[in-house]
Amino acid sequence: MTLVKINQILEGKYTDQKVTIRGWVYRKREGKELIFILIRDSTGVIQSTIKKDNPSWSEAQKLTIESSLTLEGNVKPDTRAPGGFEIGADNLTITGLAETFPISKDKSEEFIRDMRHLWLRSRKMNLVMKVRAETMQAARDYFNKQNYTEVSPPMFISAAVEGGSTLFGLKYFDQQLYLTQSSQLYLEILMYSLENVYCIAPSFRAEKSRTIRHLTEYWHMEGEWAFANMDDLMKFEEGLMTYICQTIATKCEKEFKELGADIEKLKTIKTPFPRITYKEAIERLKPKNPQLDWGSDLGYEDEKVLAEDFGTPFFVYDYPTAIKAFYCKTYKDHPEVAMSVDMMVPRIGEISTGGAREDNKDLLIERMKAQGLKPEDYEWYLDLRRYGTVPHVGFGMGLERLLVWMLDLDNIIDAIPFPRTTRRFYP
Ligand code: ATP
Ligand code: MG
Repeated sequence: MTLVKINQILEGKYTDQKVTIRGWVYRKREGKELIFILIRDSTGVIQSTIKKDNPSWSEAQKLTIESSLTLEGNVKPDTRAPGGFEIGADNLTITGLAETFPISKDKSEEFIRDMRHLWLRSRKMNLVMKVRAETMQAARDYFNKQNYTEVSPPMFISAAVEGGSTLFGLKYFDQQLYLTQSSQLYLEILMYSLENVYCIAPSFRAEKSRTIRHLTEYWHMEGEWAFANMDDLMKFEEGLMTYICQTIATKCEKEFKELGADIEKLKTIKTPFPRITYKEAIERLKPKNPQLDWGSDLGYEDEKVLAEDFGTPFFVYDYPTAIKAFYCKTYKDHPEVAMSVDMMVPRIGEISTGGAREDNKDLLIERMKAQGLKPEDYEWYLDLRRYGTVPHVGFGMGLERLLVWMLDLDNIIDAIPFPRTTRRFYP
């Protein structure tokens, strides 16, 4: 008998053939003469039936939800079965008989979240994790095709990248260290050797607010490259985004269908993306939010309102310097404006921030001081401007935010297997 995966059966490759499958009991219904068992493996769910005169009948009776098993039988098309196929079982062996599975239909969302280690077996999480893996792969493919080198930055760091308010401190032997909020500064170091670099790595933010777009640990896709300007940056980002959307639209059709997510919106994504300045964003938003003025930071609500106008990913660029990090490069003739750009998408708002980095050592020191940072904490960063400084740009995109948008997820916690939030860190 051939050992096969459930999706191969559902694709019609084994019709009227004897197969063996291994998996777990997903649902079970027992009749007088027949037991229906829905079995799942990593690739799908299939129905199998076992008859009373079968020697494995008593084994089948014992089966509980999530018991693991091996089943041999004959594949038949059956329009009544979910997926259109059914296995008529010849033989069934229990591998691990499960105790009463705690997750059932009547359980609350809270309870399911507490049972994350078991909930990850659900079809929903199985499918989301597959799309997540394909998304990471698509991002890597795009960077690699453009001759970027993937690098591995550290997670323990000695000085903040973003503002101190979201910095996690930790005791490192007898020293104070932090968990990295972004790998940008390290990518900048590596850029001087490799020119075009990227990483897909965790970033940590002590975010106290509970929103559908914040985690305390998320995966950050970051790129940094030399001899480039804002236009290069936006072109690269829209190219990356379009490539990911098109790739996922072709590779993950089945996953989207089963999840009930709208794949059509991905197919329509094409370059160039609309671009508006921050100034224009404020003008557009002002009638709806009179409190906004030039200099205000855009909040989640503002971004959402703005994004509704576009219905597709778009860029907002040229932000006020005062609301941007110390490393943002400013315009020579109007230093109150920073070369910073956010990509936004409907429903989520910001999914990436990028920009030109200040490449002049003295201006960088000025910016650090203005933000209350000690230049001596960033000696190595200043060295990058001392020795062969170069205009350069970079960006960071949150993988989970991208998934929330692509998959129409209600909350970012479902975009990552083990979400970390203020209240959740188990298991
Ligand atoms: P926000 O204003 O939404 O908190 P940010 O501007 O502080 O985000 P950046 O420092 O610009 O975030 O980080 C780059 C990208 O990383 C963001 O555009 C977003 O996609 C992602 N990101 C940032 N913080 C988080 C978080 N707490 N959880 C998940 N993704 C995040
Ligand atoms: Mg940002």
